[in-house]
Amino acid sequence: MDLDPTPEQRALRDRLRTDPPPATWDGLAAAGVLALNAPAEHGGLGHSALTCALALDALGHGCRDLGLLISAGAHMWAVGVPVARYGTPEQRAHYLPGLASGRLVGAHAITEEGTGSDALGLDARARREGDHYVLDGRKRFVTNAPDADVFLVYATLDPRLGFTGVTAFLVERGRPGVRVETEQRKMGLNSCAWGQLVLDGVEVPAARRLGAEKQGSAVFATVMAWERTLLLAPLLGAMERQIEDCAARARTRRQFGRRIGSFQSVSNRIVDMRLRLETSRALLRTAAWELDRPGPDRDRRSSPLPELVKLQVSEAAVATFQDAMQIFGGHGYTEDAGIEERLRDALGTRISSGTSDMQRDVVAAKLGLR
Ligand SMILES: Cc1cc2nc3c(=O)[nH]c(=O)nc-3n(C[C@H](O)[C@H](O)[C@H](O)COP(=O)(O)OP(=O)(O)OC[C@H]3O[C@@H](n4cnc5c(N)ncnc54)[C@H](O)[C@@H]3O)c2cc1C
Repeated sequence: MDLDPTPEQRALRDRLRTDPPPATWDGLAAAGVLALNAPAEHGGLGHSALTCALALDALGHGCRDLGLLISAGAHMWAVGVPVARYGTPEQRAHYLPGLASGRLVGAHAITEEGTGSDALGLDARARREGDHYVLDGRKRFVTNAPDADVFLVYATLDPRLGFTGVTAFLVERGRPGVRVETEQRKMGLNSCAWGQLVLDGVEVPAARRLGAEKQGSAVFATVMAWERTLLLAPLLGAMERQIEDCAARARTRRQFGRRIGSFQSVSNRIVDMRLRLETSRALLRTAAWELDRPGPDRDRRSSPLPELVKLQVSEAAVATFQDAMQIFGGHGYTEDAGIEERLRDALGTRISSGTSDMQRDVVAAKLGLR
């Protein structure tokens, strides 16, 4: 395993770390971020998962808007990747160029009122009628929903079949019966809009089914492998910048006639922050390298690395922003310092794409402990 960046990866990383970083959806599109992993034959840059990890880590250092980067990640990993992997040639040609350029916005809709951690125990129904399906259901907490043009939606053909009845569909916003309704307000990640998706007798052509009938759980597993590995890569850069700010503060702020960094309680806290960052970064890059390895998706889906990355990075980010608040003292608790905003953002990442409890649960299952 060679994780040393190539000259091309270095150049991309340096470009995205340089100020001013992209700060809007259009800015991300212009910088090529939304196209990073999309296939070259459909307007993408065709970069590996590892290159994407390096690029998004760099972007998270400069771009202070974590919500925007999570919004882009949901679009890329939870819609772009499954369309590229499971889409028919017609679906790939129809959606991938728009997703890569940012002209189309994608959203991933699985969660329902009664279906969160038990993601595949769906109530949303799909009924086949000739050359189309009829979809009914309501999806909650759908990132990007207010702006989305295309939703990757999961519905069951028969709830009695459990996860084996789940089927995935690409549902366009303009279809009769599709409505986006306001979701309750979030406490963080505010620039990453979410909403509820209502499907009220929506007719979806069979040609817009993604993958085979009853293959929805495989589509979902692929999404989770990519999303859990790469969605939080920008948090690495954000943690790095926060640690730099803390070290600078500890070198200059004086109490009891000494720099606070000379107190071991403070310096140990910063060392632990750095340890968390380096272990998170190494784990995420290893998992990205694993995604790039040739071989059937089936083999990759048995790896516990995506869940370990998701667990490690989200928990490390929460701990890091809490530590930063302590190091900055009273100033750290102000809104002006910006640390509370990052902490609120990081808390959301412990829940999205499966809670930390569920990451542990999935790893335990993959280790044969269930
Ligand atoms: C910021 C954010 C963005 C999101 N974006 C999307 C999106 O784009 N698309 C989408 O479909 N959904 C999205 N979600 C929803 C998210 O996937 C769910 O909230 C999450 O999976 C948890 O489900 P739940 O909220 O129903 O909690 P529940 O499943 O009700 O869990 C409640 C508590 O019980 C624990 N628990 C449940 N089952 C177990 C178990 N077997 N073992 C141990 N503990 C357990 C959980 O860990 C949690 O602490 C998002 C959520 C957030 C916060």
